[in-house]
Formats: sequence, structure tokens, C-alpha cells
Amino acid sequence: MKPDDILKIVLNSPELPTLPTVASAIISLTSREDVTLSDIAELVSKDIALSAKILKVSNSAFYSFPQQIGSINQAVSILGINAVRSLVLSFSFLSIKSGAKSDHFDFQKFWEDSLTSAVASRLILGKVKGADTEEIFVSGLLQNLGELIFAKTFPDEYEKVLTRIDEEKETVSEIETKVVGIDHCILGYEVAKSWGFPEVLLLPLLFHHNPTQYQGQSPKIKATINAVYLSDILVHILSSSNPEGYHKQFRKEAKKLLGLSNEDIDNILSSLHHQMDQAAAYFGLNIKNTRSIQEILQEANIKLSLLNLNYDQINQQLVQTKIKLEKLTQELQDKNKILDNLANIDGLTEVYNHRYFQNSLDQEINRSSRHQTAISLLLLDIDHFKKFNDTYGHQAGDFVLKKFCEILQDNLRKYDTLARYGGEEFVIILPETTEPEALAVGEKLRAAIENAIFDDTNNSYRVTASFGLASAFPATVENFNKNNFINQADLALYEAKHEGRNRVVSYAPKKKWFNF
Ligand code: GH3
Ligand code: MG
Ligand code: MG
Repeated sequence: MKPDDILKIVLNSPELPTLPTVASAIISLTSREDVTLSDIAELVSKDIALSAKILKVSNSAFYSFPQQIGSINQAVSILGINAVRSLVLSFSFLSIKSGAKSDHFDFQKFWEDSLTSAVASRLILGKVKGADTEEIFVSGLLQNLGELIFAKTFPDEYEKVLTRIDEEKETVSEIETKVVGIDHCILGYEVAKSWGFPEVLLLPLLFHHNPTQYQGQSPKIKATINAVYLSDILVHILSSSNPEGYHKQFRKEAKKLLGLSNEDIDNILSSLHHQMDQAAAYFGLNIKNTRSIQEILQEANIKLSLLNLNYDQINQQLVQTKIKLEKLTQELQDKNKILDNLANIDGLTEVYNHRYFQNSLDQEINRSSRHQTAISLLLLDIDHFKKFNDTYGHQAGDFVLKKFCEILQDNLRKYDTLARYGGEEFVIILPETTEPEALAVGEKLRAAIENAIFDDTNNSYRVTASFGLASAFPATVENFNKNNFINQADLALYEAKHEGRNRVVSYAPKKKWFNF
């Protein structure tokens, strides 16, 4: 069949998608010379759902305008007429995404690839200095419109094309021309022309596989065609069995056609995945399990390096990789441990914090219950510390708190737990320690503090502390209660303060001020 006859059939086919009303209205409106911003705004505002979508994208990271765009009027004046037209067309086409069942043509995949092309074209053109990226998105999105129209209007012939793509080394355009008579570039171009598309949107459709054939003078159209052409190569990195080949081609052609630097190219490759996810969300397309270009290229590289190895070498590589992996896992575990520990440590004194103390006391009570051993708890509080701060300043107070803890720690066993209870109050869990033993520990600590000289560069200070002790055999007490236990140490501390400070007092249940 002759190309003209084919076009006639397509243009008259009942299967040819019709443009949504707003889309064709915006095309004819924008082709008028006297069109105003408010004409466009009025037209778009009539379609409430579409307006909402456009406002959402206008306010998203897709454009990242600093100010909030609150109305279509504002969107048109800030984004520009062409950008709004591009958005209207993008939404319109993506809303006609479903198609008749076909064995080979996958409509979902078609729109996924088209959206990738759209995002990629915009990213690519964005790297060209002074380029106008207002309309590139829709050019990228619709570059393969002709394929979709083939699949709808010549489903049987197009099935043949699709089977041959998998088998042969020819390009899609060559196969299409052989099987149907024209290729999707011409078809897409002619159909879009019949819809009244302006030249700036039409020419990328026609030349997106052969950018050098464009002979026109418009630098804008030329750059758009090149970016769309390059975006198609990017899509192939994502979906072909030879990603590295397309990767190399992309780098070479991007430098040649648009003068992009290696840095630009790396940036495009690494941002595509994220931008794709965002665009899919804005345009309501559900894209599953996409992998990033880096992941794909990495996997391809590994495959390639394995191809040249024999069995022993592969084995050796696997062993080495496993060793590396185990080392990394160990490092990660160590780091996590450090992080876990940090969460349990008091920032100023570097002893355990209150939360850790509570958990630790639970565990120690359980343990002494099981092992039928004693457990003791010392609660201690620096004497007249408010006055100390008032006299020497808060910084000197902080210094004393730190040093105070160091002295305590130096005088404890490694399985005792020292924690900051709050402010200038500390707590020590003494596992497997009876009351007389704990009294001795308390006395030793009290004396160490009393005798210590706290020497910072300015001054020498001395402080004392009061200690409250509670001891118990949890195994012999039914429903041993942790809070009561802490309370007992607290009451004993209160008594130590009451009796004149700088002393250790053990909880004595028979004292008159106990009220249980
Ligand atoms: P007492 O002998 O009755 O315990 O008297 P005190 O002044 O020590 O007791 P009070 O509870 O009235 O005051 C505690 C003081 O401890 C007040 C507060 O400024 C000081 N303090 C608590 N936490 C810190 C801290 O992190 N750094 C410093 N420098 N001081 C602290
Ligand atoms: Mg105090
Ligand atoms: Mg206090």
C-alpha cells in the first residue's frame, strides 16, 4: 500500500483516538495570534478535574517555584501559555491510556516508556544552557504516538512488526516501513498534524529517530528534537538486553549533539529514577518495580566480567564477595551497637541515662530473683549543689558533675551500673550485693567524693554527697515491685539529707516517717 493510502485509512479509522475536548480546544486556541493568558485560563478552568491536576503539578517539585500557585490564572501567567498547553496535552493523552487487547503491544508499558522519555527529555534539555524546557515534556511523551496509532488502527500488521522486532537486527522504523508501508515517525507526525498540533510539537515526532535530518533553522526545535532522540536511547538502557551498549551510545551522542559534559550526563543518569517516580505520581501512572539506571548498569557490568571467567575464577570471586559482605555486615553491626549505646548514654556525664537505668533494673531484679541473690540500689545526690552553681557558675557545676561520675565509676565493679537519675542525682545498681556490703560500697564512694579535689583550670572545688540505700532479696518477696524498691532508696536519701547530708543511710521500714 502507498503511504498516502495508509494515512487515509488511519485518519478515517474508527479506532483512531479522538483528542479530549480541552486538548483540541487548547491547540486551536494557542494557534491564534491574538490569544491572551486569560483565554487560556478560562478554557482550562472549565475542566475542574484537569485544573486541579495542573495546579498540583505546578506546585510540586516538578517545577519547584518558590511561591504557591493558587489559581489557573496564576499558573498560566507564571508557567507560560506553552507550558500549560504541554500539561493539558500530557494529562489528556495519559487519560486515554487504555487500549484494546493485543498479544504483543503492551499499552501499559507503552505509557510507562513514554513517561520515562518525557521525564528524560526534560532532564536532558534542562542541561542545555538557555534552552527552553516549557514544552519538551509533551514532545518526549508523544514521540512514539505513531506506534500507539499503528497498534490501534492496524492491529494485525502491527503484530507482525512486533514479532520481527524481537527477531531481527533492523530498526523499528525499517521493519514498520517494510511490513506496513510507513514508519511510526511519519504516522505520528501526520495524525498530530491533522489534530492541529503546532510545528514545535510536530517536528520532534517526525525526526526523533533521525535528528540530523531536520534541516530547519530553529535552534529551539533542533534542541528539542535532539533531546527527544536522546531520551529514547535512555529508555533502551532501562529496557533492552544490552544496557551498556545504549549507555555508551547515550554518552557519545549527548556530547556530540548537545555538548553535554560527563558531569551533566552522570547527573541525568542518577536523577532519572527519582524524577520518574515523582512524575508517575503526578500523572497518575502506576509504575511497578522499576530499577535505576545505576542498578541496571552495575548488574550488566558484573555479568560482563563474569562472562570472561572460568568456573574456578567465578568461584573465587564469589568467595571474595562473600568475605567482603560479611566484613561489611560486621562493620554495620558494630556501628549499630555504638549508635544503640549512644541512645543510652547521658550527654554530659557519659554515664547511662535514666531510661537505661529503668531497663537495667528490671533485668537485674529478674536475674537476682532467678539466682536467689541479693540486690542493692544506691540513690545519691550532691549536697547544696544549687548553691555551688550560684557561687561558681553553671560551667563549674558541669565540670564537677562529669568528674563526680568518673570518681564513682573508678570505685565500682564492672557489673555495677551507674546512671544519671536526673539533675545532680545519680543511681547505682549493685547486683549480688547484700545490705552490709552495699553500705560499705556507699561509704567508700562517699569518702572518695568527700576527699576528692575537683580541679579545673580556674579553681579547686570540693563537694559532698548524700546516699540512700535500699537492699532486697527479690526471690523471697511475692510480686516484688521495682518502683517500691526505688522509693525506698529515695526515702533513705531523704533521711540522709535530713540527718545533715554527707552520709549513707539505709532504708529502715520501721522508721516513723514510712507510711506504707
Ligand atoms: P540538696 O543538698 O538538698 O540536694 O540541695 P541542692 O541545692 O543540691 O538541691 P536542689 O534540688 O535544690 O538543686 C539542685 C541543683 O542542681 C539545681 C541545679 O541547678 C543543679 N543542677 C542540676 N542539673 C545540673 C546540670 O546538669 N549542671 C549543673 N551545673 N547544675 C545542675
Ligand atoms: Mg542536691
Ligand atoms: Mg536534688
